[in-house]
Amino acid sequence: MEPAKALRVAVVGAGPSGFYAAESLLKQRPEAVIDLFDRLPAPFGLVRYGVAPDHQKIKSVTKVYDRLLADDRLRFRGNVEVGRDLTAEDLRRHYHATVFTYGAALDRRLGIPGEDLDGSMSATDFVAWYNGHPDFADLDPRLDGHTALVIGVGNVAVDVTRVLAKTRAELAVSDISDPALDALAGSQVRDVVVIGRRGPAEAKWSTKELRELGELEDADVIVDPADLVVSDESRAAIADDPVARRNLEVLEELAARPARGLSRRIHLRFLRSPIAIEADASGTRVAAVVLERNRLEARDDGSLAARGTGVTERLEAQLVFRSVGYRGEAMPGLPFDERWSVVPNDHGRVLTARDGDPVPGWYVAGWIKRGPTGVIGTNKACAVETVSTLLSDDLPGIAPADADPAAVDALLARRGVQVVDADGWRRIDAAEIGAGAAVGRPRVKFGTREALLAASRG
Ligand code: NAP
Repeated sequence: MEPAKALRVAVVGAGPSGFYAAESLLKQRPEAVIDLFDRLPAPFGLVRYGVAPDHQKIKSVTKVYDRLLADDRLRFRGNVEVGRDLTAEDLRRHYHATVFTYGAALDRRLGIPGEDLDGSMSATDFVAWYNGHPDFADLDPRLDGHTALVIGVGNVAVDVTRVLAKTRAELAVSDISDPALDALAGSQVRDVVVIGRRGPAEAKWSTKELRELGELEDADVIVDPADLVVSDESRAAIADDPVARRNLEVLEELAARPARGLSRRIHLRFLRSPIAIEADASGTRVAAVVLERNRLEARDDGSLAARGTGVTERLEAQLVFRSVGYRGEAMPGLPFDERWSVVPNDHGRVLTARDGDPVPGWYVAGWIKRGPTGVIGTNKACAVETVSTLLSDDLPGIAPADADPAAVDALLARRGVQVVDADGWRRIDAAEIGAGAAVGRPRVKFGTREALLAASRG
C-alpha cells in the first residue's frame, strides 16, 4: 500500500468540539482530510440535544458547522458508534490521527436514599427528552405532581426550571419535541423549587439565564431575602468575579419584586442539600425530600464548601430533578481516568492511564478532555489547543495501514451499518424545517432513530 499523501484524521463526536477541531485542522493544514463520526444520525451533539429548545439564538451556531459539512475535505459519518461499529483499532488502521470529542453523556448522581424512586430523574435525561433525543423518546417524566424540586444551581438547572414553568404558548415557538410539548402543556406542576447546596454568591448559573427566570409569562419568582444574606467570606471570594456579583444583584431584584399571583411559582433557595428522597404510600413514587441546612466553610484553597448543620426540613414534592452536572464515560480501548471521568491527556494528547505516556495518534478535545464545564465557545479554544498539539507531533511518521477513504465505508457496509452522510443529514434537516414551517415553529424534530434514518434516505 502506498503511504498516505494527505493527513487523514478521524474525529469522533459531531458536537461543537468535533466541529471546532475539524475547523482548526482544515485551517492550519488545508490538505488534511477528515471523517467526522457520530453515534446519532444527526450531527451537533449538545447544541441539538442539550441547549434548551427555547434558546434558538444559541442553537444558531450550527450555521458555522453546516458550512464545514459542505466542505469536501470533511465527510460526515452519522449513525456510526465508535466502540461498537468501529473499534479504536480500526481507527488506527485507517487514519493518521483520531481526535475523540465524544463529550460527557452521563449524569452525576447524588448517592442518597430514594434517588431511583419513580419521579426522581436526572436533569440531563429530562433535557435530552424535551430536545427529542432518540434514546430518550420513552422517558415518562410524570408531570402530574404539583411540586418539582430541582437540585443544583447551574445553567442546566435554570433550563429545566424555565421549561417546567413556561406556558404552552411560550414553548410552542421553540423546537421542543412534540411529545414534550404536549406533556408540558398538560403538566400539573405549579411550584418549582430550586435548591443550591452553597449560597447565592456561589451559584454557577449565568446572569442572562438567571434574569430570564424573572421574565416568564405566567410564573412568579420567589426569593426569601433572608436567603440572600452573604457572609464577609463569600463577598471576599467573589470580589474578582463580576458574574457572581451581578447574579447577586439580580437575586436581590427578584427578592424585592412583589409576587404577581401568577399560576406558577419558581422558588430559589440556598444552603440546603437533599439527604433523602421519601416514597409515597405505594413505596414507589417520590412524595417528599429531606433537606439538610448547610453552612459554608473555607477550604485550604480559599474556596467555600457546604457543610451540613444537622438541621433538617421536609419538602413535599412529587418530582425531583438532580441537576448536579454531567459525567464522561470510558470508551473501549481508550484510557480513562475514573476519578475525574475524563480521558487522561496533556494539552489534548491522550496519555496512558497507568504510566502517563503519550498514546501515538490519539487526541481529545471538549468535555471528555477537560470535564463538563464552560459554554459552547469554550470548546473552540480547547479544540484549537488539541489541534496545535496534534500538528506538533510527527504524524506522517505513523502512516495508517489502509488510508483509502473507501475502505472505511466498505468496512461499515460489511458490518451492516446504515451510515448517514452530509446529504442524508440535509434531507433530515430540510424535512424537519419544512414540518416546522407548516406550524409556525423553527423545526419539528424526528424523535426516533428509525424516523431519522428514514428521513435521511429521503
Ligand atoms: P454546573 O454548572 O457544574 O452546575 C452544577 C450544580 O450542581 C452546581 O450548583 C453544583 O454546586 C451542584 N452540585 C454538584 N454536586 C452536588 C451535590 N452532590 N449536591 C447538591 N448540589 C450539587 O453544571 P450544569 O448545570 O450541568 O452545566 C454544565 C455546563 O454546561 C456548565 O458549564 C454550564 O454553564 C453549561 N451550560 C450552559 C448553558 C447556557 O449557556 N445557556 C446552558 C446549559 C449548560 P457546587 O457549585 O456547590 O458544586
